[in-house]
Amino acid sequence: MSGGEKFDVIVVGGGPSGISTGYFLAKKGFDVVVLERGEDIGTKNMFGGRIYSHVFDNYFPGWRSEAPIERWDEREKFTVLCKEDSISITFNKESSSEHSSFTAFLSKFLKWMANYAESSGALILPGVKVDRILFDENGGVIGVEAGGDRLESDYVVIGEGVNTVLLEAMGLKSRPSPDDVAVGVKEVIKLSRNVINQRFGLEDGEGIAEFLIGSPVNKFYGGGFLYTMDEYVTIGAVVKLRHIYDAELNIMDLAELLRTHKYIYGLLREGTLVEYSAHLVGENVSKLYSGKPYGDGYLIVGDAAGTLINTGFTIRGVDYAVESGRLASIAIEKSHSDGDRSEKHLSYYKRLLDASIIGRSVKKFSRVSSLLSNPRIHHQYVDLTCELFSQIYSVGEESPSLREAFNMAKRGRVGLLRMLLDLINVWRSL
Ligand SMILES: Cc1cc2nc3c(=O)[nH]c(=O)nc-3n(C[C@H](O)[C@H](O)[C@H](O)COP(=O)(O)OP(=O)(O)OC[C@H]3O[C@@H](n4cnc5c(N)ncnc54)[C@H](O)[C@@H]3O)c2cc1C
Repeated sequence: MSGGEKFDVIVVGGGPSGISTGYFLAKKGFDVVVLERGEDIGTKNMFGGRIYSHVFDNYFPGWRSEAPIERWDEREKFTVLCKEDSISITFNKESSSEHSSFTAFLSKFLKWMANYAESSGALILPGVKVDRILFDENGGVIGVEAGGDRLESDYVVIGEGVNTVLLEAMGLKSRPSPDDVAVGVKEVIKLSRNVINQRFGLEDGEGIAEFLIGSPVNKFYGGGFLYTMDEYVTIGAVVKLRHIYDAELNIMDLAELLRTHKYIYGLLREGTLVEYSAHLVGENVSKLYSGKPYGDGYLIVGDAAGTLINTGFTIRGVDYAVESGRLASIAIEKSHSDGDRSEKHLSYYKRLLDASIIGRSVKKFSRVSSLLSNPRIHHQYVDLTCELFSQIYSVGEESPSLREAFNMAKRGRVGLLRMLLDLINVWRSL
């Protein structure tokens, strides 16, 4: 492998996808550098709080005892937020001792990943913003330019995240429409470990992952999330960019509205807000994934390649970004050993993606985006559910039957046939 000024592979972006690419390539013996524009690893990355563990179990030996895990998700909760009331269903995972997801701070987790990749031989350089991608006279990628310096390589892997500024500027990708992306907002609230355990019914090390729907995020066709960390709780929402834009709402006001809802307030009272952030999130998964994540001498990984999946209940971006880095390393290894870095040869990467859990999940959840664009999901059905529970449990002299309560709740909101068709659509989409 080459040394000195020229690298085998330059990776743009030190997020989950970029560091993963660096790790897997370094393990295969490539001379690889990961360039991250943030002054430190993890400073520019944002997520809700849950990571699925399969990819780490499979490929990062010893990670469970080393990685900065906050809590293992033992409970899953689904909550409908009515204007003031709320309705929750909790799934307590008592039957299985095998944990499959955990909560973490992405900044800490990425630092751990970066150290892990470095000990396999990858060079990780924070504080370096890549300004341009360099092409040869035939249009093949041959390196990058950063802060006036030229760095050459046999391959460039771009993992710049969902906001594909560099790829767009270089003509390698077109700008997604506001209908294809959402915006996510998150707050981190400090509470003591004991208070978190008490309020959420947890033991030390056990966590809860909660999905929220209803007021106030319903106005913006979105959903909310809540995750417990060891001594913090993260809450936030992911809403359609188009609706936030049309409502001329400051996204941070949405976080405030969510935090002050009676249900959330009860869980977080006396907590201290220590951090808030906002970031774009891929929404129209199949459209964002449908692009061409390869070309002469380059590959695209992670959110930039549309590998994030929205299942309707949860967002899975980190584990799939890491998996895409692994697949990119396989494609590069093959291209290198065949001595062919052409677009045609590197299209092998897309075939690997399509056959992987990423491609399969994109297919499986391809209807979720249009389902989530249905206004009735966010408005009429939320109101109907709230009204139904209010009818059932606001008992006066005479208890209503379930049928009476349902008929009263649906009156003036939605017809039975429409409801049946929507139900079929939900069944097909999730
Ligand atoms: C509100 C919200 C909640 C989420 N919740 C979850 C969750 O609970 N679980 C989950 O798995 N996923 C979640 N996600 C998705 C997850 O954050 C992403 O899928 C994941 O971070 C993608 O990794 P990535 O490496 O592709 O991109 P990113 O994490 O965005 O990393 C891209 C990196 O590239 C760097 N970069 C960009 N341009 C340049 C340049 N020109 N030069 C050098 N560096 C550059 C950036 O600074 C950044 O560090 C959430 C996202 C949001 C917004």
